[in-house]
Amino acid sequence: MFKYIIVGAGLAGSVMAERIASQLGERVLVVERRRHVGGNCYDEVDDNGILVHRYGPHILHTDSEEVFHYLSGFSEWREYQHRVLGFIDGAKVPLPFNLNSLRMLLPQSLAERLEEKLVGRYGFGARVPILELRESGDPDIEFLADYVYRKVFLNYTRKQWGLKPEEMDPEVTGRVPVVLSRDDRYFTDRYQAVPRDGYTAMVERMLDHPCIKLMLNTSHHEVLELRDGQIHFMGSEFRGKVIFTGKIDELFGYRYGELPYRSLDLQFESADTEWFQEVATVNYPNDYDFTRITEFKHLHPTDSRRTTLLREYPCTHIDGENEACYPVFTDETRAKYERYLELAREFEDLILVGRLAEYRYYDMDDIVLRALQVFEERIL
Ligand SMILES: Cc1cc2nc3c(=O)[nH]c(=O)nc-3n(C[C@H](O)[C@H](O)[C@H](O)COP(=O)(O)OP(=O)(O)OC[C@H]3O[C@@H](n4cnc5c(N)ncnc54)[C@H](O)[C@@H]3O)c2cc1C
Repeated sequence: MFKYIIVGAGLAGSVMAERIASQLGERVLVVERRRHVGGNCYDEVDDNGILVHRYGPHILHTDSEEVFHYLSGFSEWREYQHRVLGFIDGAKVPLPFNLNSLRMLLPQSLAERLEEKLVGRYGFGARVPILELRESGDPDIEFLADYVYRKVFLNYTRKQWGLKPEEMDPEVTGRVPVVLSRDDRYFTDRYQAVPRDGYTAMVERMLDHPCIKLMLNTSHHEVLELRDGQIHFMGSEFRGKVIFTGKIDELFGYRYGELPYRSLDLQFESADTEWFQEVATVNYPNDYDFTRITEFKHLHPTDSRRTTLLREYPCTHIDGENEACYPVFTDETRAKYERYLELAREFEDLILVGRLAEYRYYDMDDIVLRALQVFEERIL
């Protein structure tokens, strides 16, 4: 019999399963609703022969040696430095906004004056939030802060979160930085890569252990039931531990209502051209209804005469219709989540881990680290 049941074969569930199987030699059942493992990192080769990320582009970037070395046990890497351009006033400029973007968008004399003032005041290499630039007392720098806010950030955030301008908190939106360097990379973490054979292959290797049994196309409802402080598996009381990585509100039958998420309408397109754009991702803050276009060939170079693109249209999450992507944090939703946590505490052997169960945005490295930590603290 199984001592552990894990719901969800994304990164959180797969790291937990791998640790339990390889470190403890205990039997684990992994139940996954989708037809595949990997969760939101799932990738597959499409009709153009190109490896595409079906739930949106995923780039591993981390400063954590522990995470990178752990994942290296299951994958080789393709070193990759992510670059993002923003389509602004008809030009494609590096994002985050830096000294190169400044020179590409503003008249030369103004750009030179600004660069001198910014570097003189904040130092070369600094990342200065626009909120701070706005309070500089220098009209040129305040102009720049307002320019970056309007052209790079305002409309992108409106699209992404479906907000009206008056609903946007200037304290939050003012955190966007201007980077005082010529480093055009989107991330500056120590490790940046994509798995050489893809995330799906990496997760498959994690789960490839004689102690792990995987059930795809199976929702937790079909095998588990939580009632009266006890967990039941296939109708009988279950005395092991359940690690749940799905939505916490769903686990408790939406008793206090749904926890809201933003979602994405992901439109893949095959283009009859070798390359479509200069870098993997181009953001469109002000034009069109989509937020960005990703061209997957930049992540996984392929000898194909065609190319595959992905346009992301943000939308409201509707359960059963689209994916829950980004939690919508308000005081009310945090309070609702706390009420669900109270329900979970009634079950001593229930462990919640993962972006959906914890109602948090985690990057991949965060969730790997979190799962390794939960294993140490709650299982070992
Ligand atoms: C558009 C987008 C882009 C991203 N880009 C990046 C990036 O570039 N870099 C980065 O580091 N991170 C990125 N992330 C974050 C990354 O996707 C997450 O860190 C990661 O997916 C979290 O893993 P998880 O296991 O917690 O959740 P998931 O990947 O969502 O896995 C949960 C799994 O549980 C299954 N499941 C849920 N409920 C049930 C149930 N009731 N029964 C059975 N199975 C169930 C689901 O089908 C899923 O497979 C991005 C996220 C999004 C939305």
